[in-house]
Amino acid sequence: MNIKTKLTLVIGLLVMMTFALVVVSVINVQILTATDPESPAAGPGMERALFWITMLGAICIFTGIGIWISFPSSIARPIKELLNAIQDIASQHYERRLQLYGTKEFDDVSRNFNIMAERLAAYHASSISQLIAAKKYMETLVNSITEPIITLDNNKNIIFINDAALSILNISRNDAIGHSANQVSINNDLLRQLIRDLDKKESNIDNSTSLNKQTNEIPLKIYSDEKESYFQVKYITIVNKKGNNEKDERSHMIMLKNVTEFKERDSAKTTFISTISHELKTPIAAIMMSLKLLEDSRIGILNNEQAELTDDIKQNSERLLSITSELLNMTQVESGKLQLKPRITRPIELIDYAIKANRVQAEKFNISIEVEYPKDNNISKLFVDSEKIAWVVTNLLSNAIRYSQENARVIIGAQQQDNSHVQIYVSDFGKGIDPRYHQSIFDHYFRVPGTKVQGSGLGLSISKDFVEAHGGTLTVDSQIGSGSTFTVTLEV
Ligand code: ADP
Repeated sequence: MNIKTKLTLVIGLLVMMTFALVVVSVINVQILTATDPESPAAGPGMERALFWITMLGAICIFTGIGIWISFPSSIARPIKELLNAIQDIASQHYERRLQLYGTKEFDDVSRNFNIMAERLAAYHASSISQLIAAKKYMETLVNSITEPIITLDNNKNIIFINDAALSILNISRNDAIGHSANQVSINNDLLRQLIRDLDKKESNIDNSTSLNKQTNEIPLKIYSDEKESYFQVKYITIVNKKGNNEKDERSHMIMLKNVTEFKERDSAKTTFISTISHELKTPIAAIMMSLKLLEDSRIGILNNEQAELTDDIKQNSERLLSITSELLNMTQVESGKLQLKPRITRPIELIDYAIKANRVQAEKFNISIEVEYPKDNNISKLFVDSEKIAWVVTNLLSNAIRYSQENARVIIGAQQQDNSHVQIYVSDFGKGIDPRYHQSIFDHYFRVPGTKVQGSGLGLSISKDFVEAHGGTLTVDSQIGSGSTFTVTLEV
């Protein structure tokens, strides 16, 4: 039976009973009015009429009460049940089924609801199995990568770690997956260092929102596979944007790249350069000595052509000597063998040394060197390896002369920056350096494209290393066409 028929029957029944009550009442009233109330037949007639009216009235009242109680609940109960079932499905209880009795409509609702639940359950099962398969595939893929990879969730729990990472951390998969990285790192020095660095990088990201990929410059030394290995660590932050005023979630990936091979090649290269430069120094010194003897008139007078040739040899030998000393300095820094012998030095001593060392070259190009120095000598003394810093200032002054036009002027000076810092600077009015190259000029062997003046591209990088080894800085301020100023800032 459907709801419409049910409603029609109930209302029809009520109408019919009301009609019957009215008809019986009317008939009885007519019979009573047709009968003389004083006649003996009137008594039983009246009783009969009252009996039937009361009977019918009682039946009507009870039927009405019955319908009033049962009919609304026969509609409301299935609807409530349907609502509960929908809520169960919404909570992913796809096994929920519905059995509503009473009307055809409710039967249809139950049947269709159950079909929907079955299909949802099948879809859910298939998408979960697909997800599991995809996850397994990803895990196999990442496990096949030989570089260690660790992934942490928003709360720094380890959610993924490949075999290579397990091997260098020396932990088992069960001790890692699902555990807090901070907890695991209590007994693991390497993980502790990685997490500490990650925290540092994270605060950097907070300060500059665009940074989400950071690499540690200095490779990490790890003892793995029974030998010392070097790993370059890359930290990748993955931001899961939530929206709806919810806080974004940040997960992290730590990737380690084994750079041991490059490191070994690099140190082999450094040793090679160091040996070669060292070995070259003696023959070059011998050439220079022979040249000096050749120039001595007591040995014999050279004609003009011979003098020119020896001058040429001398210049090239000096260049060779300066390159070998630059290479030696570089290898000292690279191999970590740089040893500073600091002593108290006045900045003017360094400036004087640099001017003396560059005098011949400056005269050759008719360059005037101007010195700017506090007249009252009111400048702090430095506690530095004067040989190294003098080398730096000499190199900066040499660059200023070499990269200037003939007859130009160059300024070298020192000033007190603040109570604890002194600056030594060299300015020229040459062609200047494009801001694009302000960082690269401090890299080994880098030369600004198109530079015609001869050079090795090593002077500035070694200078920077020397200054930084003292805890100072070497900076450049330069514009194309208006010259350059290099400034060494040192703590007093
Ligand atoms: P080198 O001068 O031997 O090439 P450096 O390391 O001293 O090596 O300098 C690197 C590069 O920076 C130079 O090749 C040159 O292009 C540029 N440079 C350095 N100093 C100056 C300067 N004062 N003016 C213009 N360019 C300069």
